[in-house]
Amino acid sequence: MLRELDGRTALVTGGTRGIGRAVARRLAASGATVVLTGRDAQEAKNAAADVAVESGGTVTGLALDQGDPAQVEAFMTTLAVEHPALDIVIANAGTMGRGGPLQEITTADARTVVEVNLLGTFAVLQGAARIMAPRGGGSIVLLTSLAASTGVAFMAAYAATKGAIATLTLSAAQELGPQGIRVNAIAPGVIETDMTAPFPREALDDIAARAPLGRLGLPEDVAAAALFLAGDEAAYITGHVLAVDGGLQP
Ligand code: NAD
Repeated sequence: MLRELDGRTALVTGGTRGIGRAVARRLAASGATVVLTGRDAQEAKNAAADVAVESGGTVTGLALDQGDPAQVEAFMTTLAVEHPALDIVIANAGTMGRGGPLQEITTADARTVVEVNLLGTFAVLQGAARIMAPRGGGSIVLLTSLAASTGVAFMAAYAATKGAIATLTLSAAQELGPQGIRVNAIAPGVIETDMTAPFPREALDDIAARAPLGRLGLPEDVAAAALFLAGDEAAYITGHVLAVDGGLQP
């Protein structure tokens, strides 16, 4: 039986765990050849091998530190040679960084969050566009957050980068649409991953209780949205930020 993404090639950054890993698994299970990245080469290879087994698909793991835009640029240039038929990019890698009271966040800590979440994602987006445009198109999905529209106390730098990603999605969609490239974003609410694991249990329970759907999100909830936006079912959708948040209100 023909699967939705048969014959497609997809890049998923930060695919070693959490949301990225679930996305890589879902895309591979839907027929895409998947390249996932992790900060450590061995970790990426191991994750790719596991995801290949879990999905029954073809998955490769490569090293990429998104905190260094020059490295991202070099990575995307190599990717263009090794995977010239890149159809889908899910720019998922991101960090919460070291939060804390606004007056106490150091410039260095804020810079790390900006470099990984904004400049790193920006470089992935640029590289993806350079590969996709000459081929006549593709689909790019960025990861923003509910935090972009609510703001989050003690996570100011993180929320600011996610706000920037939402705006970047709109600009890129306008600019790249004529080149056949769709650019959308997913705004997860609170998803159970390593990123949210340090939150106090009572705070997570409170968020789950406030969500109209009565629970926290799972990485698979986000993966389903990524598959939809990546594939042809979303052929006339670009510049959209899709909330996957159980109905949590900004
Ligand atoms: P996670 O911490 O489990 O995974 C983050 C991934 O990004 C990991 O694979 C990690 O290795 C990678 N990463 C972090 N810093 C990196 C760097 N410098 N270079 C390369 N890779 C790096 O988090 P997650 O919950 O799976 O989050 C995935 C994405 O979803 C992030 O962009 C995050 O901001 C976003 N998001 C998550 C939630 C949530 O509730 N979990 C909510 C909104 C948005």
